[in-house]
Amino acid sequence: MGMFCFAGKSVNEGIALGPVLVLKKDRAEVRRRTIKDAEAEVLKFKRAVKEGMEELRFLYDKARKEIGQDGASIFEGHGMIMEDVEFQGRICDIIRREMVNAAYAVAMTGDVYAEVFARMEDGYMRTRGEDVKDIAGRLIRILEGSGENVSSINEPVILVADNISPEETVRMEKENILAFVTVQGSTNSHTAILARMMNIPALIGVPMKLEEINTGMKAVVDGFEGRVIFDPTEELCVQAQKRMDQERKSFLLLDRMKGKESVTGDGRRIRLCANIRNVNDIKEALRNDAEGIGLFRSEFLYLGRDDFPMEEEQFAAYWEAARSMAGKEVIVRTMDIGADKQASCFCLEKEENPALGMRGIRICLKRPDIFKTQLRALLRASQSGNLAVMYPMITSVEEVLQIKKMVRDVSQELDREGIAHGNPKQGIMIETPAAVMISDELAELVDFFSIGTNDLTQYTLALDRQNEKLEDFYVPHHKAILKMIHMVVANAHRHGKWVGICGELAADLELTEEFIRMGVDELSVVPSMILKIRKKVRELDICSCEI
Ligand code: PEP
Ligand code: MG
Repeated sequence: MGMFCFAGKSVNEGIALGPVLVLKKDRAEVRRRTIKDAEAEVLKFKRAVKEGMEELRFLYDKARKEIGQDGASIFEGHGMIMEDVEFQGRICDIIRREMVNAAYAVAMTGDVYAEVFARMEDGYMRTRGEDVKDIAGRLIRILEGSGENVSSINEPVILVADNISPEETVRMEKENILAFVTVQGSTNSHTAILARMMNIPALIGVPMKLEEINTGMKAVVDGFEGRVIFDPTEELCVQAQKRMDQERKSFLLLDRMKGKESVTGDGRRIRLCANIRNVNDIKEALRNDAEGIGLFRSEFLYLGRDDFPMEEEQFAAYWEAARSMAGKEVIVRTMDIGADKQASCFCLEKEENPALGMRGIRICLKRPDIFKTQLRALLRASQSGNLAVMYPMITSVEEVLQIKKMVRDVSQELDREGIAHGNPKQGIMIETPAAVMISDELAELVDFFSIGTNDLTQYTLALDRQNEKLEDFYVPHHKAILKMIHMVVANAHRHGKWVGICGELAADLELTEEFIRMGVDELSVVPSMILKIRKKVRELDICSCEI
């Protein structure tokens, strides 16, 4: 077959050229066989479960070390389903009733469960269908022996798959992945997140038929144009190679941006900081010469576990973050639990509209005991370096006054106990339209603002940020959002306070100039974007005409 090409949605830019590795996980490969001894087959199934549980425990530990508790929790969830009495009971029933092989019984049960989940209204439950497919796939692989999987990656490849499970992203030899190309996935899928962290091109929603693509076949992935070309002509390969060389050169040029100031030709300065989820991510922040941490999403300490992180554990994490950044400011955002970040230890009730529900600061104010533990840890850690605290999801002056009172109480409590602590600067996130509209009043009460454009866009445009079906309606440059940012900056500056942006929009190079014109003081972004933005900033020369 000659060259063929597909368009998809790019979730990370870049060009890749190399051999393809197709991950096929086709359930149809499981053949139905009649067996004679049902009890022996049930025993075989039980042994596979035991082996599967061991694998999941191994993956959980590996993921916890590599990507933190949040990324690891998925394997805990898989373990719970795999050990579920009803799930196992159905499989054993099929083996005994139909006298069929265990792998076939697993595949049938997996399909039934996946179908049930897929029909559920709740978006979160719908995605659980994928988990059941993964679990069934794991058991089938153990029972039947496997074909191509991520462990077969031992040379640089372009990974082509229907979908890539979180388990596979943890398992794979990441140095050998040149690009991801998947049929399914969404902007916030595990593959997309991983691609951004690894800085390799990735396409999702590619309408290809995996049976037509062979492992070993060459491909060019264009993450700028959102295209993948299989079996490309020699000429296209040469072109791709040239563009990759250019990319590499500009990447090396970016290295020159390290140690330089983020200042425009006409002397306007902007601070470029990193967003992190845990202490591990600080390595990336430092490698990319971050001028501080503009957003430490502390809720990741609470995710994927059944108990609350104790004061000492939190203290150690915040202390370490401040110490590693050696005097550069580290802004810890207090836990923003709820909505897309469900933490089992909070036992939150199911809500009709979780994004408009019990989340962020609302939980903290309703559960002061838990919030105070975090505040104690933060106040204590703030002695170690330049630590600041920031509160999410603010909608009113009263909330800020209430929080400030709690901080004063905690500070006095620590004094009474003779425990050393600092008095960190306190800021708020501006991520609700309400906060924007009263930013004038809020600015008097706090030391700084950080604009969370992810939620601000969701609440302003009435657009669920988790819903992949709405991607077409998502207009990140919407005038409403830009006007809001402008208004917040003006109000903050009127009161002598600084203002940053820490949502995804901060990394949008098309807006860098506009943000500087508006007077935004800080942009906090995924570490791999810092040097690109610095380069852009240094190329700008903003004349006196203000908007
Ligand atoms: C935001 O809402 O823009 C933000 C930075 O916070 P998060 O994405 O964690 O909700
Ligand atoms: Mg937010």
